[in-house]
Amino acid sequence: MSRRASPPSSLPLIAVPSPLPKETDYARRVRQLAELHVEIRVCERCVAAGYLAEANTVGATRGRIGDAVMVVGQAPGHLSVERSIPFAGPGGVILDRWLQQAGFAAGALHREVYLSALTRCDPGKNPRGTGDRKPSPPELALCRPYLLRELELVRPQVILPVGGMAIAAFLGSQRLEDVIGEAFERNGALLVPLPHPSGVSRWLNDPAHQQLLARALERLAAWRISGQSQASDGAVP
Ligand code: SF4
Repeated sequence: MSRRASPPSSLPLIAVPSPLPKETDYARRVRQLAELHVEIRVCERCVAAGYLAEANTVGATRGRIGDAVMVVGQAPGHLSVERSIPFAGPGGVILDRWLQQAGFAAGALHREVYLSALTRCDPGKNPRGTGDRKPSPPELALCRPYLLRELELVRPQVILPVGGMAIAAFLGSQRLEDVIGEAFERNGALLVPLPHPSGVSRWLNDPAHQQLLARALERLAAWRISGQSQASDGAVP
């Protein structure tokens, strides 16, 4: 099955800032990240603009200055809202398992990875009731500044865009087959696209796609071993 990661909107691609050591300007970054988290928690931009009936950001964001890896998903689902934790559902279990394949300890997803998303409120079900509604372009635009500010403060070494929309936000419209399994250097940081771990996605039913995922996790494992991106500009061979 072929699937193209559709661009999230006419927004520009997200520019990845260079990684920073945890110690660099640590106190300021911690303070400003805490302020940003509060700002996100009380945000009602999409409600005011008529795109959401209610804002529910409690399960959208978690992480610290010093987290070397940042996961960027699409938007939190209802389980994340209920449990006040990002990737709280089965997709989070699978994503944690993938990280273990790359050499992380069990539970690392919620312990040592910065969890972010394109939008921070549960968009609800799609009209057919077959899965989560994709955030609309205006919602993506309203929420984008939060992700940009997180990137600027956290400065991760590795970014894992999860699912087609998040991948497209960083790399533009791409077939998943063309980018999963690749690693891309961006300003000294490594971008490793992953498919969405949700059971709703059937992309991984294809054994060839599972091989691409395994390759992506090997790239992540290689970064863990080397401790840094050994990438040159563009896709890492
Ligand atoms: S999705 Fe983002 S911009 Fe919209 S209300 Fe939630 S936090 Fe605010």
